[in-house]
Amino acid sequence: VLDQIEAREAEVHAFVSVRGRDELLAEAKAVDEMRAAGEEVGPLAGLPVAIKDNICTKGLKTSCSSKMLENFVPPYDATVIEKVVAADGIILGKTNMDEFAMGSSTENSALGNTKNPRDLERVPGGSSGGSAAAVAADMTILALGSDTGGSIRQPASFCGVVGMKPTYGRVSRYGLVAYASSLDQIGPIAKCVEDAALLMGVIAGHDAKDSTCLDVNEPIVADLDNGAGKSYRMGVPAEYTQDGTDPAVQAAVDQTIAKLEALGHEVVPVELPHTDYAIPTYYLIASAEASSNLSRYAGYAYGHRAEDPESIDDMIARSRGEGFGDEVKRRIMLGTYALSSGYDEQYYEKALRVRRLIQQDFDAAFAKCDFIVHAVAPHPAFKLGEKTDDPLAMYLEDIFSVTANLAGLPAISVPVPQEDGTPPIGVQCVAPALREADLLAMAVAMQ
Ligand code: GLN
Repeated sequence: VLDQIEAREAEVHAFVSVRGRDELLAEAKAVDEMRAAGEEVGPLAGLPVAIKDNICTKGLKTSCSSKMLENFVPPYDATVIEKVVAADGIILGKTNMDEFAMGSSTENSALGNTKNPRDLERVPGGSSGGSAAAVAADMTILALGSDTGGSIRQPASFCGVVGMKPTYGRVSRYGLVAYASSLDQIGPIAKCVEDAALLMGVIAGHDAKDSTCLDVNEPIVADLDNGAGKSYRMGVPAEYTQDGTDPAVQAAVDQTIAKLEALGHEVVPVELPHTDYAIPTYYLIASAEASSNLSRYAGYAYGHRAEDPESIDDMIARSRGEGFGDEVKRRIMLGTYALSSGYDEQYYEKALRVRRLIQQDFDAAFAKCDFIVHAVAPHPAFKLGEKTDDPLAMYLEDIFSVTANLAGLPAISVPVPQEDGTPPIGVQCVAPALREADLLAMAVAMQ
């Protein structure tokens, strides 16, 4: 992977930092020696793992691709990093992202954008675009991303790799820089479902350091061949085949459904009637929570501080003005407005009530089916710059991915190769809460 980084990183720009070659090779060698000495090695023995730059790594810069945290070096490791290291995985470096995970194309990075390694004129998706591009370009074997409204599944879809968001609470977020706390989850990006399952198995589990982390007994990964010979009911929601969906995306979904039917699974129509409200609900809740979470960046504790402030107010205002990019500012303003006295009932609280209706849609659908299958995004990977001037058009691309976050459900994106040579298109499978083991087995069948 180091040779591949040397060959492709200059054009793709998936990483914001890569650890030193000697150090990395020494770590790999140490694992080899353990194995040679007959010692037991962990499940990730010697495998490189690229880490999205919003996951804290002790001693390694964690910038969130923001000027605000450009020089921030965390004094501790996130729980997922401790787990990867304990499993003998090798932390390869940090990957580029939309600033503070806000975006769908990695074009909001303050450190330059990432290109789709399968077509350099196209975006890799976002916000975990660097992680997905690194996996797709063979610059790493595994990667971690975070998914608040699709940021693992959508870049995995655009780059033709596998990306999975677990049930809310399945993976500790201790050390993940918070964007929208009721939605954020960490998950794996990999070349195939089996690899994603391997990393998922390592990072999941209860952690006392994250109060939202669940303490449950349901297995996260079980027998991946479990789907074989079984007949599941696959729910297909009518609301997700919208007029605006690209024909190539619809064809990929249809192809996957046909494949699953041929394997003996039954297709059942389901309804998710509140889908139309998902985008405004998501953007209100995510922006409101972001405006609160990002209030900690004020120039006094850590992060960017403006030079020669005249007063504390001046320091806070200028530090934030200089440190945050346009999209982050837009969300902070939107979120602050939605939470402000006199408006919270009208916006934030109303959004929470609609969120409940969206969750109930899924409960009703899962009474009729075992899994739900639909697109990850309405369009395949779009061209660089195509949507940067139109934030609303960018937000609308998230219609099929934000619902799983609003409902807290596990979901996976599995690529469907395209015969015309354009980048693969991901198809999504969503499962009821805590059914990751079955979801992974189903995803193996989708491949
Ligand atoms: N594109 C969505 C947003 O901009 C999702 C981002 C994410 O999942 N981190 O908020």
